[in-house]
Amino acid sequence: MKLSSKLVKTTVSALALSAALSSASVFAAGQPDHLGKKQQTNSYSYRYIDVQLLGINDFHGQLDVTRNVGGRAVGRADYLAAYLKQRERENKNTLLVHAGDAVGASSPVSALLQDEPTIEFLNKLGFDVGTLGNHEFDEGVDEMLRLINGGTHPKTGYFRGADFPYVSANVIDKKTGKPILPPYVIKKVKGVPIGFIGVTLSDTPSIVTPSGVAGVTFTDEAEAINKAVKQLKRLGVRAIVVLAHNPGVSNKDGSNESGEIVDIAKKVDDEVDVIFAGHNHAYLNAEVDGKLLVQSYSYGTAFSDVDLTIDRRTKDVVAKKAEIVTTYQDSIKPDPKITKFIDKYEAKVSPIINQVIGTAKTTISAEQNASGESALGNLIADAQRTAMKTDFAFMNPGGIRANIEQGEVTWGELYNVQPFSNQLVKMTLTGEQIRKLLNQQWQSNQTRMLQISGLTYTWDTSKPIDKVVDIYLPNGAKLDPNAEYTVTANSFLADGGDNFTVFTEGKNREVGPVDLDALIHYIQQLPQPFDARIEGRIQQLR
Ligand SMILES: [Zn+2]
Repeated sequence: MKLSSKLVKTTVSALALSAALSSASVFAAGQPDHLGKKQQTNSYSYRYIDVQLLGINDFHGQLDVTRNVGGRAVGRADYLAAYLKQRERENKNTLLVHAGDAVGASSPVSALLQDEPTIEFLNKLGFDVGTLGNHEFDEGVDEMLRLINGGTHPKTGYFRGADFPYVSANVIDKKTGKPILPPYVIKKVKGVPIGFIGVTLSDTPSIVTPSGVAGVTFTDEAEAINKAVKQLKRLGVRAIVVLAHNPGVSNKDGSNESGEIVDIAKKVDDEVDVIFAGHNHAYLNAEVDGKLLVQSYSYGTAFSDVDLTIDRRTKDVVAKKAEIVTTYQDSIKPDPKITKFIDKYEAKVSPIINQVIGTAKTTISAEQNASGESALGNLIADAQRTAMKTDFAFMNPGGIRANIEQGEVTWGELYNVQPFSNQLVKMTLTGEQIRKLLNQQWQSNQTRMLQISGLTYTWDTSKPIDKVVDIYLPNGAKLDPNAEYTVTANSFLADGGDNFTVFTEGKNREVGPVDLDALIHYIQQLPQPFDARIEGRIQQLR
């Protein structure tokens, strides 16, 4: 519902009263109703219930990954669990929700086991409802539904699936014309129904490999939400929460909100009270058109704590506020059960991490020569060009994080070389655009030499700008500025990363496998022991 500002102010003072009462532990939330009834002298506490929604988005299976925020360690599933359980103890009317990308682009401890450990983690915490992000589609609809509903995978055997429902109002089965999952679920808290609607970025087909979204279409988010709201209202539901895998961002104080979710919020029925956003891994805590919008970064480095006051008589939300809480490790003890759980899966994946992919004849180094070429850069660019079957491939040097040492090469070593799980993107660029792209390597503050495959070129250090001189095709002919060529880049570059803005102009985009998988498959099909060397693909003239 939409609140007038007057009403909000009234309920704020009512909230303060409620807080005072519950701190006196007369009406500790979650106690059986009959206790409350004994105390009906205070009609406020009986009439209103406080509901806490704890939400995460874009967790990406980061079960065992510690990150850094302002010099302090954050994240890891056992710390996140400790924070969520701590908040749950403060209000027993708590529901746990997630807004998509819980899985996909995950840590090996989860990725190598089809992300089953991440779903199991959410089960263990008692999640109540989730929705689909774009990454849930990474391995196709069937595998996504197996992970949710349970089933057998050749690699991992039987998995029981998620213990909680997934909702999705705008992912439609092409065959049946109906949503592939329930558009919404209704959760009852102390007899009051709360509706949860799910939607996923309608742009998903343009950022997921085509096989991932085969058989489904994505419809307009706002229209799908409004349709579900109508049904919920008919069922007497007035407290409505949307889980949306759509981006949004705001300042810490809630000002300057922007992004797709802001537009969606303005378009949807005012009966919607709260929207959990996701996808761009940002901070969002703002009110738009009477709806409270939140997002809590990503990777379990934070979570959203939304506090609702619901009027039992009208069944509607009368007050709401949110806090985005960072999961600093130095402020809490990790949950011991989850620590054990992570240890168990780390032990389970260690044979895969130690699996030998090939044997390197020599150490293949990421170190560039004076011209800007490296042996490992060549190997990776060749792997990407082969995987996507394009004329050329370009790899950002910053994405190569370690050398391949001489001798047996394990999966874990290659993961350390390419740890970002970027998907490969195929696109079309003209010869002229490729020249412009190569000239973007010399930026005012930094030079970044792209590692290349399928072409060679010369450049002149003495030129102040536009240093590229001649670009050659494998047959020795010069690149035709007017011809179109197919090109592979990883998703980071394809989005214009490192200021290589030319990639954003690429046409006929198509998303392929994760970069690491492309490298593994390429090495596996090379004659062993394999090698890669500097070949003069890039030549500095002066
Ligand atoms: Zn996403």
